[in-house]
Parts: sequence; structure tokens; C-alpha cells
Amino acid sequence: MRIILLYLIALVIAPNTAGSIEVTRGKLLQGSLLLLQVDTSSTVTVNGETIPVSANGKAIVGFHRDETEPLHIIETLKDGSKKELTLKPKLRVYREQRINGLPENMVTPPDKVLKRIVEDRKQVTKARSYSTSINAFEKIFSWPIKGIITGTYGTKRILNGKPRAPHYGIDIAAPKGTPVRAPQAGIIRMAKNLYFTGWTIILDHGHGLSSTFLHLSGTKAKVGQRVQKNQIIGNVGSTGRSTGPHLDWRINLLKKRLDPHLIAGKMSRK
Ligand SMILES: [Zn+2]
Repeated sequence: MRIILLYLIALVIAPNTAGSIEVTRGKLLQGSLLLLQVDTSSTVTVNGETIPVSANGKAIVGFHRDETEPLHIIETLKDGSKKELTLKPKLRVYREQRINGLPENMVTPPDKVLKRIVEDRKQVTKARSYSTSINAFEKIFSWPIKGIITGTYGTKRILNGKPRAPHYGIDIAAPKGTPVRAPQAGIIRMAKNLYFTGWTIILDHGHGLSSTFLHLSGTKAKVGQRVQKNQIIGNVGSTGRSTGPHLDWRINLLKKRLDPHLIAGKMSRK
């Protein structure tokens, strides 16, 4: 009786916490994307910033490569009550990769291309800044090509003996011309030849989630074009800073770099 009474008192004191937010997919790991199920009429904040909620109550959060701080998620329901969830990422150990034999102008670019590199970066940032209300973000992703994985997410990079930014993509070696298929539906936000990354496509999957495909031989994709999952968007090439035909596939949640391997799962052999 006494326990029941204490329980009732506790309910009266804390009427505003109605259980927790459901994580329906994703791991608590650096580089991971997590899918949340919330009430369709809720508003959701992550560390104080509002994130979009789809018509069916889906929202996404992610951990950057080096994220160590927890994400504090608050769902405010229509009646004003709140649900809270704190997600802490497990830390990963990243390997080191040395690549030699790159043309020197691709490791330390000459002054005359610095302006172009700055402009390229600006356009890439803009192409990844969309937060469209399409719902491809919540669906299962597939691999854009099948091939041999030659570079993984997060690796520390030493290029021609010089330490450079970590590698944020997955490198998949495949013959030149291999069709690259959209791993999930989306809207093309960039289709352009850039200095470091060569022919580059950025595909917006909604809610700030985007895929980037680098070093393509070329593309017929047009900015603003809508593509379906598995639709061919370009072909494997070796344009930009590359030592041979391969696809470098990256996934961003706005500015956060995520690990495509954690999102698409294991590559099937077929
Ligand atoms: Zn790469």
C-alpha cells in the first residue's frame, strides 16, 4: 500500500514525462545515423536545436566522426508534455592510411587554384545544407556500386608523406564506366567538376541527409532533378585527386559526416 502511495505521489509530482523516445534504427557509435519515432504532432530538439519531424513521426540524428558529447533529445508533445532521451556515442579507433604517388598539385595545390578550391567548398556546403521534407532519409539504403572497398570512413590520411584531413567516405574500386546507382531516392543538388573531387554529385534524401559521389567520369544528372532509388546517376571514373577508377561515397547529415557503411550495412556479393 505504501509503495503504491509513493508511486501515485511520484506520478503527481512528475506529470510531464511520458516515457521515452523510441530509436528504431542505428547504433550508438561515432559516424552513425539514428532513426527516431516520435508523435506526429510533436516538436523535437537536439541539444537545443529544432529538427524536422515527418508526417509519419520520423526524425533523424547523427554522430560526427569525432563526436564525444551526448545528444540530448527533447520531444514536446501537443499537450505540452515532454519526453527526453540522451544518446552517447561509443568511440571508434580510426586507422591510418598512407597514399603515395599522387600528383604534387593535388596534395599541395598551386596558388592559382586556391580561389577555385574555396569556391568549390562553398558550393558543396550549400548543396548539403538543404533540409527538404521528402522522406527518403528514413528508408533502407543500398550500395551505389559493388566492388572492392579500398578506403574506409574516418581513416587518418597521409598523402605523399603529408598529414591531411581524415577520409570521410568509402572508396569502392570498380572498372571505369561502372554505372553508379542512387542508394536511395532524392533530389540532385550538385552535378559539377570540382578540383579535388572531380565530377561530383550531391543527392538530397530529405531532412538534411545527403549522399555525395566523387571522382565520376561524368554525369548527365541535372541540379533539381528527382531520382528514384537504384536509378543510374553517373559512372565510375578517376577525375580529381584519385589514383585509379573508384567511387568515393559520402553521407552527410548537414555538416555532420556519417559512415555510409553503417547506413547501407554489409555489401552483398551479388
Ligand atoms: Zn576517397
